[in-house]
Amino acid sequence: MAERHPYRLLHHENREFTPGKIVCVGQNYREHIRELGSVPPAVPVIFCKPASALSPRIVLPSGQGECHFEAELSFLIRWGSLQAVALGLDLTLRDVQNALKAAGHPWERAKSFDGSALFSRFVDLPESLDGLELELRVNGQLRQRGGVREMMHSPSALLAEVQRFMTLDDDDILMTGTPSGVGALRSGDRLEGRVQDGGTSLVSQCWRVE
Ligand code: ZN
Repeated sequence: MAERHPYRLLHHENREFTPGKIVCVGQNYREHIRELGSVPPAVPVIFCKPASALSPRIVLPSGQGECHFEAELSFLIRWGSLQAVALGLDLTLRDVQNALKAAGHPWERAKSFDGSALFSRFVDLPESLDGLELELRVNGQLRQRGGVREMMHSPSALLAEVQRFMTLDDDDILMTGTPSGVGALRSGDRLEGRVQDGGTSLVSQCWRVE
């Protein structure tokens, strides 16, 4: 049982929890694949962040090139199903990731560092997930918008795909990839993100880059 570090506590309703793992999907929105100069993968690209990646604060790693924001619809798992949704940030050391990709190496150095996973609180799911979308503003400017309708693989399809080879335990989190508009963070940036359902805001969160 992991130590209950205060940075690793997330919230759903009145319950605090710490995920055992955070399962992420790379390249699930066509526009984002284009902006990275990649080709759509034949099967979803899956990687994990450990619980040690969780943080409530954005602290930029120094001397490692650009750190990009990736806003993502993120789902809390219970009883093997999607139970709640939050806005997640998959912080990515883009220069490091590009070097790893070129060398054919795994992405952990770029994606799984301390402080690379941030979440708003989690809220109950609407009846249908089809209208879920996220929005991210940086310094007041809309940078990312996208949702289930623009995904190549729906949240339910991703869940089933992951469960073909990996057990998802209660309180694990599934991140579903980022829409286009990713970019580098700078100290002092103010991020405001929200999850919406058909235009109605379900949850929102602000972060300031330290
Ligand atoms: Zn991502």
